[in-house]
Amino acid sequence: MLIDEAVRILDQIFPPGLQQSYDRCGFQCGRTDRPLTGILVGLDVSDELIEEALEQGCNLLVTHHPLLFDPLTRIGNSGRVERLVHRVLEAGLAVYAAHTNADAMPDTVSGALADALGLRNTRVLDPLKGILRQLVVYIPADHAETFREALFQAGAGHLGNYGEASFGVLGRGTFKPLDGAQPFLGQVGQREEVEEWRLEFVFEAWKTPAILEAMTQAHPYQEVAYQLYPLEQKVSGYGMGLVGDLEQEIPLQTALQRIKDFLGCPLRYSRPSQTPLEGGRIRRIALCGGAGASLWPLAQAAGADLYLSSEFKHHHFLDAGGHLVLVEAGHAETEIPACDRLRQRITPLFRTFAVLNARSSQNPTVYLT
Ligand SMILES: [Zn+2]
Repeated sequence: MLIDEAVRILDQIFPPGLQQSYDRCGFQCGRTDRPLTGILVGLDVSDELIEEALEQGCNLLVTHHPLLFDPLTRIGNSGRVERLVHRVLEAGLAVYAAHTNADAMPDTVSGALADALGLRNTRVLDPLKGILRQLVVYIPADHAETFREALFQAGAGHLGNYGEASFGVLGRGTFKPLDGAQPFLGQVGQREEVEEWRLEFVFEAWKTPAILEAMTQAHPYQEVAYQLYPLEQKVSGYGMGLVGDLEQEIPLQTALQRIKDFLGCPLRYSRPSQTPLEGGRIRRIALCGGAGASLWPLAQAAGADLYLSSEFKHHHFLDAGGHLVLVEAGHAETEIPACDRLRQRITPLFRTFAVLNARSSQNPTVYLT
């Protein structure tokens, strides 16, 4: 398998269409015409990760944070990113990033934290919008069933835990083949009236090319009559952060200890006397791995007693006071558990290749204790 094909498979696992508009997910750099030798998964591209990849015989790095984020206008000898790009290329490696698109998959970044804390009935804290498309297409009645099946096979009508979803209404369409046409039905110069189904399908935006290809292949007409619409509604199955409930209420200190034990880092949290929870108990927890401080009002709106994320500012603690307890952990600590989730998603599609978690340190910071 060439790295090029590996990238195509990774794009299916981590659809670039799920990333935030500012992000740089997907293939980043390297020769894609080389055979894949193995995949090493880590948080950031670093000297340690490159050395480990060479040691392990892996030539594709899959990292959560993109190496190339701010556009480079030159690649010289200075700066961390420029230097690492040189090292990656000289070592014959390639880099692929699964960043905010992986964040938007509920069972990946935030899911690793939610599972460790034992949260139940989880739902997405900040669902994505604008990622759905609707296809409306007209098909002669006697072709409708095979046509519908072909579109389902291409991924249409499959959302969350439901598949083969479509809507159809039977009607009558007209058309007149003009000079030069080679109509499937009717004759040039004569208006035809045909019994047709108007079929409607919803699907994620990144499936559009495959679905339009399937539509064209499966439709008998020379010119397919269809409309493709962007849908604006939020989608509960994708988005940032999660909120869920503990099996039973626990004291704040117990919740904090549970978080600290799992993440293995000191925590900074709201002064309890400035929250409604002084001496109180925690039942509902919201969380977002990585820099999710700005989502705290959504955690409050979701009825959370506690919101766990990283990179809170002074004013976040002030503003959230009286509403809920903010708990800040290190950025890397909240995302390192996600690296194994990335590996778990990748492994089944690369069964004949090593897909390894980085052993080298993934955290650029330490704590004075
Ligand atoms: Zn991050």
